Amino acid sequence: KQAKIQQVCDKPNETVDGAGFTLRANIEFENELPSIERFCAQGVGLLRTESIYLHCDHFDDEQKQYTFYGSVLEHTAPHPVIIRLFDAGGDKLFNVAEQEQNPFLGWRGIRMLLDKKTVLKQQLRAILKAAGRYPGRLRILVPMISSLDEVAAVRKAVAIVQGELQKEGEEIDPNVPIGIMVEVPNVAIQARAFAKQVDFLSIGTNDLTQYLLAVDRGNERISGLYSQRHPALWQLIKQVADAGKEHSIPVSVCGELASDPAAACCLLGMGITELSMTPSALPAVKQALCTRGISDMQALASKVLESTTVAESEEIFTNF
Ligand code: PEP
Ligand code: MG
Repeated sequence: KQAKIQQVCDKPNETVDGAGFTLRANIEFENELPSIERFCAQGVGLLRTESIYLHCDHFDDEQKQYTFYGSVLEHTAPHPVIIRLFDAGGDKLFNVAEQEQNPFLGWRGIRMLLDKKTVLKQQLRAILKAAGRYPGRLRILVPMISSLDEVAAVRKAVAIVQGELQKEGEEIDPNVPIGIMVEVPNVAIQARAFAKQVDFLSIGTNDLTQYLLAVDRGNERISGLYSQRHPALWQLIKQVADAGKEHSIPVSVCGELASDPAAACCLLGMGITELSMTPSALPAVKQALCTRGISDMQALASKVLESTTVAESEEIFTNF
């Protein structure tokens, strides 16, 4: 099996007609690091950090975080690592998040971090110290952004922590890119305005789908309504891709949609060339992208964008 994986790994990351793409891993735990090499990911596209606290009941452990981020960077050289700030709340970490009636619509991600200033500061200190140790490789990703004010607040917090670290004599990377998750529909709709204020956009289709279609991503009873083939989702993705192009910033997809080979082809057809996913899904996606032409993928994207129902778009994907 590994020989087969290696065969795919050895191919250049381009379509049959030479369009390039980047495939990265979504990881969460230290024990997933070997899978980065095994499935030849070009770095980490989404490092979920919430789990650092799975076994703790407090957030403020800077050294522990710094060690974890450092070991991810160590293992992935020379590729980039995109570290997402804690996305606690929602369905994640009931032990530390407070119980709410509608947790998915509640105190989650950046909303929580901007209230818990010490938690944000500790995490930024750990991240920015790691960025200084591996300059040019670390990027910060902010979860659950739903307003430009939140973007400005995070930027301010980063600048303040960078100033403090410099005063302490720590190395910093002054140009560490700051990007946002596009997972709340208003951000996708206003993608142009957000693209002006950030260094990159990463589309989180898991949450974007649930918020767009008003379908709880974890509720079995209505799971039939949770479709990542929904034409409205694809129309939003296209808007975000276009906004990124207009403002010359990278747009990636880090939701599990990217791990579906046909969907990955459609994303590339829309101009999204950076995808990240569960490491074990990488070879099948790479195989699909390597064995087709970009013009076929663009034709797929146009058809999907013209579809009006899930059944219609599903048929288009199946025929592809
Ligand atoms: C997403 O929402 O698509 C995403 C990648 O983040 P998570 O699944 O961690 O919410
Ligand atoms: Mg999400």
